[in-house]
Amino acid sequence: MINKEFSTDFLNKLSNILTQKISPIHSANSVNKLFKTYLNIEKTEFVIWDNNNMVLKNFVKDWEVYENKGITGEINFIYNSLALSNGEKFCFNEEEFSCNIKEEEQYRILDLKSEENNIIFPLVSNGEVFGLLNIDCKNNAFTKEFFTILNISSKLISGAIISYILNEQMEVSLNFYRAMKDIAKIIESQYELSYIIPLIGEMIDRFMSNHLIYMFIYKDNEYSLVWPKACMDENVYKLLDKINKSENEYILSKNNKIGVFPLKNEENIIGAIAAYSNTDKLLQKDIDYLIQLTRQSGLTINRANVYAEVLKYATIDALTGLNNRRQFEIRLKQEVSNSKRNNVSLCCIMTDVDYFKKVNDTYGHTAGDCVLKKIAEVILHEIREYDIACRYGGEEFFIILPQTKLQEAAAVAKRLRKVIEETLIDITETEEAEKNYIKVTASLGVCNFDEAMTAEALIQKADKALYEAKRTGRNRVIVV
Ligand code: GH3
Ligand code: MG
Ligand code: MG
Repeated sequence: MINKEFSTDFLNKLSNILTQKISPIHSANSVNKLFKTYLNIEKTEFVIWDNNNMVLKNFVKDWEVYENKGITGEINFIYNSLALSNGEKFCFNEEEFSCNIKEEEQYRILDLKSEENNIIFPLVSNGEVFGLLNIDCKNNAFTKEFFTILNISSKLISGAIISYILNEQMEVSLNFYRAMKDIAKIIESQYELSYIIPLIGEMIDRFMSNHLIYMFIYKDNEYSLVWPKACMDENVYKLLDKINKSENEYILSKNNKIGVFPLKNEENIIGAIAAYSNTDKLLQKDIDYLIQLTRQSGLTINRANVYAEVLKYATIDALTGLNNRRQFEIRLKQEVSNSKRNNVSLCCIMTDVDYFKKVNDTYGHTAGDCVLKKIAEVILHEIREYDIACRYGGEEFFIILPQTKLQEAAAVAKRLRKVIEETLIDITETEEAEKNYIKVTASLGVCNFDEAMTAEALIQKADKALYEAKRTGRNRVIVV
């Protein structure tokens, strides 16, 4: 018996479910349960109109499409018809009634009642029907109160679904701007394509999570894959062959599952981004995003090329101010020959920040860069004037210690490890933002040079020690 108390209780419970921050599938399950216990309804389905694909689909299982033919044709027909009535009508076993059901209509409903009954209420927002509440039930007292409660429920559910959809859209566009900004930012201090392209790939990949993303560089009339490690899809390569001849901003495969977007500098193609849709096909929305992401990536890669050209003859690493890799190789050779010639000891320390990828992933690449700058500062502070500190690669540093015994070098390394561990690193993004500090650790490998060695062998020896430090738990020094 549906009385006032019962209705209030039911609607309270329903609102509680709908305002909880849980996934659609969990909310739907709870709503289903509530409908079953309170209203003796077997099955409730939430159907919404997908404007991108012009189809009705299941809101919870959004891959489930109600085709406009066959068994699901009927629901499309009802949707169109309820849409025409601006959401003021509902369907009972395919006949329409006013949502605020009138006394006389109840008799008609009793006539239509059978073993299996189907009730469809419109989901409405701003006077427009955007979906349906599709209800199946067997035996029920189809009273005026029953339909009134369903009418109110459908309104509450409409509100919850719309608010969920708006939230999702907001999140996507926020994430999109974040991805664009990240790509634009990479280049502030980086110019090695081998470093920035996988990063761009990763950023696009994270944003376009329903797609497989591939990045190619175009050089000497050929596309080579640079992100990720492999692309097995022949069709991607077939499309790549076509883009140089095409004037368009992108091309799609016949089934619209694959899109290829050329990366350009002013006039030439320098690469391409390919996207393969894991679900149905690339939607216009995906294509729009990819166009923008490709443009931004093209700009970034271009700037990196120019930057690399400018820095070709530099000796200093732009980010940390330490010697760069090229300079490191030159200085190491000098010190090796000096050690041989004058028979003086020579040591080196190789260090690598622990779990640095996590820092980038958690706090962003700008924060990662702050860490590298700070570590460089710490290294410079802890070594002697005539020691030579270099940025060897991404988050790897090399220190050459001329005229130093292994024990002394080990002491430097141990001190360095401790200071790094204790250093608070400021990763605050802007001046206005609240201060944000993190800590990191590093692993270090220490070794000395002996006459029989080459410079390469010395690097290998240090690398091996460092590897051992990583292998045995990180944040430690291994001396070999
Ligand atoms: P491990 O403890 O084994 O060293 O783990 P890890 O995460 O530090 O090692 P991994 O080599 O997997 O990750 C290094 C990361 O460093 C990957 C790369 O994106 C990042 N990286 C390299 N160069 C730079 C840079 O100049 N700036 C920033 N922010 N990140 C960089
Ligand atoms: Mg490393
Ligand atoms: Mg590391």
